[in-house]
Amino acid sequence: MRVDLSPRDIHYGSLIEVNGKHGLPRDYDCAMFRVEDGSEVTMQRNAAVLLGKLLEATGGREIALVSGYRSAEEQRRIWDDSLRENGREFTKKYVAAPFHSEHQTGLAIDLGLKKGHIDFIRPKFPYDGVCGEFRRRAADFGFVERYPKGKEDITGIAHEPWHFRYVGVPHAEIMNAKGFTLEEYLLWIRKFRFGGSPLIFRRDSLRAEIFFLEAYSARIELTEPYSISGNNADGFIITQITQNREKNYEIRHT
Ligand SMILES: [Zn+2]
Repeated sequence: MRVDLSPRDIHYGSLIEVNGKHGLPRDYDCAMFRVEDGSEVTMQRNAAVLLGKLLEATGGREIALVSGYRSAEEQRRIWDDSLRENGREFTKKYVAAPFHSEHQTGLAIDLGLKKGHIDFIRPKFPYDGVCGEFRRRAADFGFVERYPKGKEDITGIAHEPWHFRYVGVPHAEIMNAKGFTLEEYLLWIRKFRFGGSPLIFRRDSLRAEIFFLEAYSARIELTEPYSISGNNADGFIITQITQNREKNYEIRHT
């Protein structure tokens, strides 16, 4: 099948990098869907569906969805409120500016353990119990802990145990296996140029070939089922899914 990629597509998809360096375009617009847990929280369709399944698989009734998609206006209000209440230093550490927040993409979720008061900016989401179980299964559903401890210089955000990001399958699993944040992963997969040797991932019946295409627009030919995401900067990550006939586990890269 032939796929046409336009410059607008660079800012869409589950792997877009949104941080202090890379902002969203002013006209960013994506359909949002309710996460099925009875709350009002919305996210992009795949993220909402898979978060629902992940919560179901891990006994998520003890987990509160604190904050999902936020519009630019909401993000502005949270930023201004925090500046007034907590000061500039705290706000820069824990709150992103409008158009630089992952919450505005609809791919991020803040989670809190349902126990006593839940802090909106820094909810408690520990590494044990039901929250630990959620963490162990998260990558199977395409989610990663986005701001881990020790990576503050790379992400530009303080350690946030409660903030998860949907990046999709199998990217979440590869990121965890390599110990990469999204910034590091996107830098690394630039090596696997479209048309050259791919990054190969195999698990059970899944086999994925992952490529990077540096381009603002392109017309490409793909023969297998695929997903494509922009990187929000200068190119696209192309994931082609085929059957793993050998039923083994492998992340292969040269
Ligand atoms: Zn968050």
